[in-house]
Amino acid sequence: MILLRSLQVLPRSSISHCSYSSAAATLAEKTIREGPRNDWTKEEIKSIYGSPVLDLLFHGAQVHRHVHNFREVQQCTLLSVKTGGCSEDCSYCPQSSRYNTGLKAQKLMDKDAVLKAAKKAKEAGSTRFCMGAAWRDTIGRKTNFNQILEYVKKIRGMGMEVCCTLGMIEKQQAIELKKAGLTAYNHNLDTSREYYPNIITTRSYDERLETLQFVRDAGISVCSGGIIGLGEAEEDRVGLLHTLSTLPTHPESVPINALIAVKGTPLQDQKPVEIWEMIRMIGTARIVMPKAMIRLSAGRVRFSMPEQALCFLAGANSIFTGEKLLTTPNNDFDADQTMFKLLGLIPKAPNFHEDTTFEEERCEAAVASN
Ligand code: SF4
Repeated sequence: MILLRSLQVLPRSSISHCSYSSAAATLAEKTIREGPRNDWTKEEIKSIYGSPVLDLLFHGAQVHRHVHNFREVQQCTLLSVKTGGCSEDCSYCPQSSRYNTGLKAQKLMDKDAVLKAAKKAKEAGSTRFCMGAAWRDTIGRKTNFNQILEYVKKIRGMGMEVCCTLGMIEKQQAIELKKAGLTAYNHNLDTSREYYPNIITTRSYDERLETLQFVRDAGISVCSGGIIGLGEAEEDRVGLLHTLSTLPTHPESVPINALIAVKGTPLQDQKPVEIWEMIRMIGTARIVMPKAMIRLSAGRVRFSMPEQALCFLAGANSIFTGEKLLTTPNNDFDADQTMFKLLGLIPKAPNFHEDTTFEEERCEAAVASN
């Protein structure tokens, strides 16, 4: 009351003197006013990323609440259906056959084991089931690919959204996955185009973008994000978000991963990502891609509940649940349940309400143009 009275007697000029407008504030307001944009400049994204962190958090939260139900958090379970022995050289990955991480390579899991895991995930509240396979690509893997198609059909039949991450795919394979009922395909860009050659040399940035294009053309939701903590500079984080947010259509899901440095990989000695860096990435991603599901992904296990709460506040609305994230540890199921209860979060229901006719038409058009 006393404070209110003193504000009432302050001249206007004194009040405006106290006001401050960051790039996060200005550009978040523009996003709220005008909706998603694909013409972001690197300078704009850099200025959002570099805004005072509490301001970025606040304005990320505003965009989030404008577009999404802030209480809803999507729960996805990621299962490694084919582990290790990968020919690629992604320098963060324990599944590359080039690094000695002690990981035992395994063949593609059989149908019963995969379906059992999907059922368990559904019973635990997951609405999306993601299958990851450590392959460079699926070309020349006809038998395995057909098996994956069967798993997709069965899991979709269980009433879950289904996602795959199988490496690079071709146009025809994207179409077949769509016809099998695949909801989303994950293929991360990992980092900026400029920093990318420091991390992977066995496939190019453009090849990654091409896979994303095939996925988009087939009418499958695009899931693509990156990893921070690879030794990249701030400009590389900005560069990654710039590439994603200037795609003709924003990815429907954007996983933000914090590196889990695994012994035996070239990045084993990287220092852990700080929570403030995650908040900056999440808040910026939320402002520049307002409709996307921003997924707090690998590295969540290192963050306390209050730290995760800040990530949800900044705009994250999706997590991976389950014991493991492919091969690295993930948060405990009971701890996640407690967190949802404490923070008043609720699981997001699966989204099947796409216009089926439209999807079928798109699929047929894609088949015809092939
Ligand atoms: S990230 Fe994927 S493609 Fe790269 S080495 Fe690991 S499994 Fe292979």
